[in-house]
Amino acid sequence: MQFSNINRSAFTSTLHNEHFDLLVIGGGITGCGIALDAALRGMKVALIEKNDFASGTSSRSTKLIHGGLRYLKQLEIKLVHDVGSERAIVHRLARHVVIPEKMLLPIVEGGSLGKFTTSLGLLVYDLLAGVKKEERRKMLNKHETLKEEPLLGDEKLLGGGLYFEYRTDDSRLVIEMAKSAFANGATLLNYIEAEDFVYENNQVKGVKAKDLMAGNDIIIKANHVVNAAGPWVDLLRKTNQSLKGKRLQLTKGVHLVFPFHKFPLKQAAYFDVVDGRMIFAIPRNNITYVGTTDTVYNQSIDSPRCDRNDVDYLLQAINIMFPTVQLKVEDIESTWAGLRPLIHEDGKSASELSRKDEVMISETGLISIAGGKLTGYRLMAEKIVDLVGKKSGKQWRKCKTKNFSISGGEFKDEAEFQQSRKNFLDQATDYEIDSSIIEQWFYRYGKNTADLLAIHKSLKEKGHNHTEELAEVQYCVTHEMAVHPNDYFIRRTGKIFFEKPAAEQHLNTVTQCLANQFNWSETVHQQYLSEVKNEFEAVTHFV
Ligand code: FAD
Repeated sequence: MQFSNINRSAFTSTLHNEHFDLLVIGGGITGCGIALDAALRGMKVALIEKNDFASGTSSRSTKLIHGGLRYLKQLEIKLVHDVGSERAIVHRLARHVVIPEKMLLPIVEGGSLGKFTTSLGLLVYDLLAGVKKEERRKMLNKHETLKEEPLLGDEKLLGGGLYFEYRTDDSRLVIEMAKSAFANGATLLNYIEAEDFVYENNQVKGVKAKDLMAGNDIIIKANHVVNAAGPWVDLLRKTNQSLKGKRLQLTKGVHLVFPFHKFPLKQAAYFDVVDGRMIFAIPRNNITYVGTTDTVYNQSIDSPRCDRNDVDYLLQAINIMFPTVQLKVEDIESTWAGLRPLIHEDGKSASELSRKDEVMISETGLISIAGGKLTGYRLMAEKIVDLVGKKSGKQWRKCKTKNFSISGGEFKDEAEFQQSRKNFLDQATDYEIDSSIIEQWFYRYGKNTADLLAIHKSLKEKGHNHTEELAEVQYCVTHEMAVHPNDYFIRRTGKIFFEKPAAEQHLNTVTQCLANQFNWSETVHQQYLSEVKNEFEAVTHFV
């Protein structure tokens, strides 16, 4: 059976009828990582997600697989070591969505780091993460720094440091992980909300959930339940009457997207802001994005948005560090805002709160996990599944995720990855498709690009228009559980952020295609069309 909402009734029957070893609540990176790890160990696993997979924080990050250089300043040595070392592993498991990216750290007069501290800091960072010698940091003088990035203002510039990180597409990483978990026997379903817990002998043995598409309740039974609900973790702990001791402190982080011609950054950079924080500016195809902020957040968890203060803060930072660009509000093409589910610590500001993950087990056996980083998802999953295995008292297979390539990333090594890319590009003429589209698909779907090409060919043979867009939508419906236009434009492709002007031309085509696939009535069709139009407007509406 395909991982598609076309098969939704079969999946809801499985959720209702089976008894699972493990039920995971939350389809972000944490939950999907746990589901994959547990499935590979032989557990019978279910995962439910109240919205779309990756619709929470896991589609709203800075999209870096990074060790967190700034955590070194806070002396979080173990955190930097653990997540730093994970970078190369996650890259090896998902080469198509985790791409090496050189990062430039400009050193400026009056900045937070001097030449010596930058050099030492970057060296320690590399050593802690076990970075290969040839990829270790390189210190640059002023002239070399300006050559790397001519947009930097030269008045206060002293030099720079170049070091290695990895760029990713957070929601694609989650979706590929969900596909792999499904392919290995897990049952994962979006638009199912956990509303309450089911208890036996005062122990959590499942959840009472609502199918948000059909409107009915489902009881899902499981020996162990993990709450991986990100910013919503405490709401579920409250339902479980176990919200005691450690609590979440949510902080908001936003990113602004500019057309590349407005902010033609050559080189990704990590640079100072006047308040002593540091932010990233990352060029990516036709855009450059910048972020992030870090402010305490106490409003609605479901729809954090970028506001005017966020915009002013980031614009000011960019215009000081890159004085020739002088960006304005009108230049912003798109934005996104995410919430960090951090653990509250008395007297600490948002930026000072630790990014370490925390596991909390209630008296009734609910396991909650919060905090952490996208980058450290695999280690978090291993820890949780070890715990579940131990609690179950049964013998399970050992953790396999360190060497298990996720969907689309099944390449032996870099040479095979590059060869595969070339082979796909070489087929452009045969498939009557622009090679730039194949390139985009390859960096979204990796080896699964073959499936998209097959769909595209069949659409061409049937004489359809807009075959490239339609092939991609159809693939996301039949292989990736997409059901709403926002699933496609935000979580499956990120087009609302990275290709907004072009994507806007396809809102009707994509929505019509989904309406056909799912037999929507005209009312439902119009409702989803207006939902996606509202979202495209909201990303540039600042209050
Ligand atoms: P989420 O992704 O929020 O997933 C939780 C899911 O649970 C949601 O999809 C939600 O809908 C679902 N859910 C909630 N309640 C229920 C319910 N009752 N029933 C069913 N489902 C439910 N990390 C990095 O490594 N690199 C970075 O560059 C980076 N940048 C960041 C930048 C920002 C601005 C932010 C905010 C975070 C960043 N992080 C980064 C951290 C990283 O994004 C998070 O640690 C990670 O995404 C959290 O994932 P999660 O799965 O725990 O939570």
